Amino acid sequence: MMEAKILIVEDEKDIARMIDYNLKKESYKTVMLHDGSFAAMTAAKERPDLILLDLMLPGLDGLDVCRRLKADDRTSSIPIIMLTAKSEESDKILGLGLGADDYVTKPFSVKELLARVQAVLRRTRAKPSRAESFKAGVLEVDFLKVEARVKGAAVELTSKEFELLKALALSAGKVLSREDLLSKAWGMDAALELETRTVDVHVGTLRKKLRSEGKRIITVKNYGYRFEDK
Ligand code: CA
Repeated sequence: MMEAKILIVEDEKDIARMIDYNLKKESYKTVMLHDGSFAAMTAAKERPDLILLDLMLPGLDGLDVCRRLKADDRTSSIPIIMLTAKSEESDKILGLGLGADDYVTKPFSVKELLARVQAVLRRTRAKPSRAESFKAGVLEVDFLKVEARVKGAAVELTSKEFELLKALALSAGKVLSREDLLSKAWGMDAALELETRTVDVHVGTLRKKLRSEGKRIITVKNYGYRFEDK
């Protein structure tokens, strides 16, 4: 197996060292941080294959780090395993749809952690990290040419509609919140100023333009949207 680089963000130094030691023993490369402040920046620079992210961190907490990672194109596809103290917290994290791929509840065994790491890496490596195109039913999207086609016929989309479609398609099967979609299609700064309702309006026009395939964009009540690719 190709050796993977793993970023460990954990402020409890004993736990961080234990994780670091065991990952290295399995021939993973590691980068270790004990504070959340520079986690997103370090991830953008180091491009790890996986991030182990503690929830309660000094500087910036795990949820905020997660949000930043997912809002940045350079880091949005890096899988994240959250390390949490209680299982209720873990459920909440996955429920929030922040894009964490899995979680491990403390205290955890080395064996359990390694199994999760391997499972997530296997899953994410099965699909190309930089998708150039996407297909679902009679819908085809070419991300490089910025073109969408339904039954072979080009669909005229505005740049925001295309970005929304791209964000939804690349996370097919997962729920994205309106905030996620705002930051992905409009950028983080704009996302702070725009109303989430903006997303609804654009999703509405996007659905119409995709004709028969518009039904693939499912509204998840009180939360956001999910793209159905099956
Ligand atoms: Ca902590």
